Amino acid sequence: MKIDINKLIRKNIRELSAYSSARSEYKGDARVFLDANENAYGSPLKKKYNRYPDPLQMKLKETLAQRKNISPAQMSIGNGSDEIIDHIIRIFCQPGGDQIITTPPTFRMYSVAAAIHEVGNREVYLTDDFQLNLPYIFQSITPDTKVIFLCSPNNPTGNLFKRKDIEELLNQFNGVIVLDEAYIDFAEEESLMDLLPVHNNLILLQTLSKAWGLAGLRVGIAYADPDVIDVLNKVKMPYNVSAATQELAIRALQNGDAVYKWIRQIREQRGRIADILKTFSFIKKVYNSEANFLLVRVNDAEGLYQFLLSERIVVRNQSSQPLLENCLRITIGTPEENELLIDALKKYSQ
Ligand SMILES: *Cc1c(COP(=O)(O)O)cnc(C)c1O
Repeated sequence: MKIDINKLIRKNIRELSAYSSARSEYKGDARVFLDANENAYGSPLKKKYNRYPDPLQMKLKETLAQRKNISPAQMSIGNGSDEIIDHIIRIFCQPGGDQIITTPPTFRMYSVAAAIHEVGNREVYLTDDFQLNLPYIFQSITPDTKVIFLCSPNNPTGNLFKRKDIEELLNQFNGVIVLDEAYIDFAEEESLMDLLPVHNNLILLQTLSKAWGLAGLRVGIAYADPDVIDVLNKVKMPYNVSAATQELAIRALQNGDAVYKWIRQIREQRGRIADILKTFSFIKKVYNSEANFLLVRVNDAEGLYQFLLSERIVVRNQSSQPLLENCLRITIGTPEENELLIDALKKYSQ
């Protein structure tokens, strides 16, 4: 289904003429750049960073395009996908009236970004098996609902949502659906990227922060219809991704072999640790995970959390989220780190 995206965009954003940076205005092969007030003498570093970076990160997009089989015109790069979440709210949601829908327990950044912009957040909890509650989502949609944020595999529950549920929402909802696939590399199923040509109201988010091991660099990617991408590029800060980040991300993407090996190892460890965790009597449930973490329900989450801290092991207590009373989220570490966790759990059980 194709919807009229222009109608969804806030009027002031639709009418905004983007800041035109020196580096985006001149496209030719100049001899001398005296247009951007840079320091032509160099940088006090071995490598020079005295020139502003490419605002549209074309080389990085072309490198991604080869991997993903998708055109650079369908990509916007953010300083982490967190930044793109903020951009999406800015573009589609009028402060003080418009709303988003989120499906807790889920990633908290969507509601934080909405709150920053004074945008309402209708929470439609997941079902007991952590799937989308479609009837309640449909009931909660009002004319002011502009964006629905979904996360699959979902953080912190670790499961994938059903493809047919997501497709049904895409078909029925006259707004934007954001599908955050931060953990898709660890999942059994493929990305829903194949839906992009069919649904111009879908924005897929991926990141180099998780499987790609580049959380410190800050690279998030939105994949969407070129018209949506144009608006994302218009509202972003012109130089939101540094030259160093762009160079390193390209180099990393050209060296993906280690990543695939790690993904296999992380998935193996995930299964192995899940089996061990199930043997502890104070662990009530280990949820199936399609991500690089395990969600576990325990007798006393706060007690176990504090005990692990005393062993200098940090996990995440998710008990404050709906449906997740006494739940901890444990990231899969290296085999050595996982052993330390298991040793600590044995000590706790004594
Ligand atoms: C970690 C995570 C991100 C990643 O954000 P970046 O800003 O790209 O590091 C996005 N969404 C979810 C659900 C996450 O868990």
